[in-house]
Amino acid sequence: MAIWNPWRGCHKKSEGCANCYIHRANSRKGINTDIIYKTEEFYKPIEKDKKGNFKIKGYQTVFLCFNSDFFVEEADEWRKEAWEIMKTRNDISFLFLTKRIERFRIGLPDDYTDGYDNVTVCTTIENQLRADERLAIFKELPIKHKMITIQPMLERINILDYLDSTIECVIVGGESGNNLRPLNYEWVLDIREQCIEKNVGFEFRQLGSTFIKDGSTYKIARQYLCAQARQANINYKRV
Ligand code: SF4
Repeated sequence: MAIWNPWRGCHKKSEGCANCYIHRANSRKGINTDIIYKTEEFYKPIEKDKKGNFKIKGYQTVFLCFNSDFFVEEADEWRKEAWEIMKTRNDISFLFLTKRIERFRIGLPDDYTDGYDNVTVCTTIENQLRADERLAIFKELPIKHKMITIQPMLERINILDYLDSTIECVIVGGESGNNLRPLNYEWVLDIREQCIEKNVGFEFRQLGSTFIKDGSTYKIARQYLCAQARQANINYKRV
């Protein structure tokens, strides 16, 4: 797994951004996350070493924009070139998350038709309002590989109308940190049932630091959030 951050910085967009880990981490370092800038690793996937080999090896997944949103407004002028780079490195699987799926068509290359085989787009939602806003748009877009992330999950959400064979997986998780919003296990199981009904993959990625199960509230240390989600053993692989 490799990471490619062609630009950094992001603006808070919706309820799920309230405790954004990028903003939190940057503020501890005195960095203003609202300043968006193109990084010196913009061309990283197509950089070659002295022998003429790509520095980033092929046949792996590269996560991009983990310190930003691929569709953040300031990156409109850079995005077309980033798409071209992904098209060039068709031996790599690229994956990015976004809360701005409504901006998908801004900066698309002219030859983009029904999507690139090597790019997975993951739309993130956090409540019913954002699910209805974003997933209705997402459903209609020409993207070869689609995923949905519900993290942090802030309430019970019905996404049944948006689940079909084009959605490969739904990932669910809570917030990590002190005194943040709780994740209720019943909401998680409810999404799982929706995924099974529509034969869409499901992954319980992490508990919330505040976690409600069977009416009781638990405080979970950060280092156990993912491990305990795995222990729940409720992931579903579509058939
Ligand atoms: S869109 Fe993502 S990166 Fe940007 S502020 Fe919200 S949570 Fe953070």
